[in-house]
Amino acid sequence: MDIDYIINHLGEDRSQWNGAITPPTYQTSNFAFETVASLRHAFSDEKKHHIYSRGNNPTVEILRKKLAALEKTDDALVFSSGIAAISAAVCSVLKSGDHVVCVQHPYSWTSHLLSEWLVRFGVSTTFVSDVDTDDILDHCTSDTRLIYLESPNTMTFGCQDFSRIASFAREKNIVTITDNSYCSPIFQNPATFGIDLIVHSASKYINGHSDVIAGVVCGRQDLIDRIFHEEFMTLGAIPSPHEASMILRGLRTLPLRVRRSYENSLTIARWLQQHPKIRRVLHPGLPDFPQVDLVARQMTGTGGLFSFELDTEDIHTCERFAETLQYFMMAVSWGGHESLIFPICTFHGEGSTHTPHLPFQFFRMYVGLEDAEVLIKDLETALDKV
Ligand SMILES: *Cc1c(COP(=O)(O)O)cnc(C)c1O
Repeated sequence: MDIDYIINHLGEDRSQWNGAITPPTYQTSNFAFETVASLRHAFSDEKKHHIYSRGNNPTVEILRKKLAALEKTDDALVFSSGIAAISAAVCSVLKSGDHVVCVQHPYSWTSHLLSEWLVRFGVSTTFVSDVDTDDILDHCTSDTRLIYLESPNTMTFGCQDFSRIASFAREKNIVTITDNSYCSPIFQNPATFGIDLIVHSASKYINGHSDVIAGVVCGRQDLIDRIFHEEFMTLGAIPSPHEASMILRGLRTLPLRVRRSYENSLTIARWLQQHPKIRRVLHPGLPDFPQVDLVARQMTGTGGLFSFELDTEDIHTCERFAETLQYFMMAVSWGGHESLIFPICTFHGEGSTHTPHLPFQFFRMYVGLEDAEVLIKDLETALDKV
């Protein structure tokens, strides 16, 4: 199935809605039946039929079909946030006494889920290197039920060898999950390398307009069915039909947006690399990236996120630089239309309650859809001033 078919047609039976190009938003909580027999039949598979919108809603269903096809998996579920999707996927494979191997410094609330929350339920986690496959495999024990990956990481861009990890895990009956928010399904499909479950924060590229919080889990039918009947239906972190229709709109331009963001970010990373006030640039698309071979094997492009360090020993210089930028807004998140900067010195200065694992000179940058030349001018002006 080609991407253009998936994005423009899959799941959209337009004859059902008067030929409307854009599917209606089924803003309804429940669905009425004519006969007891048809209601009885619907209950035989609540995931497929329309009974109640916590389970299955027609607008959300279109989105699910497209996301599953984009990730080359059997099925997908959409959640009210990325972390709800991650929590559901992780919890679906664990019980008390189980052990998890997770890459170091994953998304902050994924880290909290594993290092704090799940500990209350008797699940233990070992955090391992995110660039050394042997370190990941060596830490698996007979109790390990899950290997949790994030490739690339969205701060330091460490990548994991999906094929090697997936074939090891399959042999040991361990489930593999990866967060694929950074690449989006356009630039990386972990299922094609054997990864069992793929999670996304749809708040980032998939919706892409900085106006919805949502999440996705994609995977094999048996694993998705289990999540539906357990975590999805009991914890109930579902998206609204309205949000699903907004994400559907965002999805129409996903390939265009991620390509633009990727190309813009490379142009800017190369420009920063030659600037005397920049100490180093870390971008998985640059030829000097440490894992360049693995990137070439697993990804067909990178996201528009990258990082760099200012060449200074003064934290105030870092603060002033971030505050001087005009086009780059200072904010968390990424994946929208707008370029952003996140200064790690936020976690170092007086009054910070965080314990940073990155130096204060470190900046995480997201490049959006603006003209690269305009963004470079903005950076040039800010660098001249500090
Ligand atoms: C933002 C993000 C999440 C969490 O998603 P929410 O939609 O904010 O809950 C998870 N993983 C990564 C890599 C993210 O960037």
